[in-house]
Amino acid sequence: MDLQLSGKLALVSGSTAGIGYAIAHTLAQEGASVIVNGRTQAGVDEAVDRIRSETHGTVHGYVADLSRPEAATEVVRLHPGINILVNNLGIFEPKAFEDIPDEDWMRFFDVNVLSGVRLARLVLPEMKRANWGRIIFISSESAVQIPTEMIHYGMTKTAQLAVSRGLAESVAGTGITVNSVLPGPTKSRGVGDFVADMARASDKSFEQVEAEFFDHVRPTSLIKRFGTPQEVASLVAYVASPLASATTGAALRVDGGVIKSAF
Ligand code: NAD
Repeated sequence: MDLQLSGKLALVSGSTAGIGYAIAHTLAQEGASVIVNGRTQAGVDEAVDRIRSETHGTVHGYVADLSRPEAATEVVRLHPGINILVNNLGIFEPKAFEDIPDEDWMRFFDVNVLSGVRLARLVLPEMKRANWGRIIFISSESAVQIPTEMIHYGMTKTAQLAVSRGLAESVAGTGITVNSVLPGPTKSRGVGDFVADMARASDKSFEQVEAEFFDHVRPTSLIKRFGTPQEVASLVAYVASPLASATTGAALRVDGGVIKSAF
């Protein structure tokens, strides 16, 4: 299937590793020009070089913390004509509810929600002029099944669904679609490191910790394993494509069936 992405310019926030990297790589492979973003020059250079050499695509790098307003304004000024915005960057941290201070609530909202809201606001005028665009929020199964070990994270992921649906309705009747994608537990760099640390601390193998995680922490998983960043990226690439023109205002799951619902 040709996803018809050549000629499109995509920005993927937080794309030097994990799910964001897989999305940037897949979009480049499918012919889109891609802006890769991370906070260090070395990380961005490495990701840009790898994607360029493996896909022979057009890949730009942008080094900055895209949860900062100045950075969001600058990336859109430096790269006019963004057709596809993937709001991927996000942070998580298990913490008991009583131990989450106000500052953490605000920081999670800033990084996980407001960064995407701001970028969407900045790219929308050009998308409207072109009457074509794709805005995709990388939310989480945690938007629906709030994890008790990080309620503040769950709050941000639910907020993304609200923003995404509202924004989709505000551009009704145009060629712009807005959707959320909900990954389940995915073996990205962040999660991979977290599980590897747990395995080391408890003198167990990665596989043992993974099996216990799906027995006790996410028992509703139907695939009984972590998803891969590539599995998420494949869905995102389809949603970003002109072929997905009737998919909008949706919360699309690539969660391994963790959310216990048929629809
Ligand atoms: P990750 O930590 O593996 O990678 C995130 C990338 O974003 C890294 O390159 C990191 O350097 C970069 N980054 C983080 N904050 C940034 C910032 N402020 N500015 C620029 N770059 C920044 O993360 P991941 O697990 O791939 O998660 C990506 C998204 O997917 C997040 O929004 C997360 O909530 C969501 N998600 C992840 C999982 C999972 O199990 N991994 C499940 C559901 C949803």
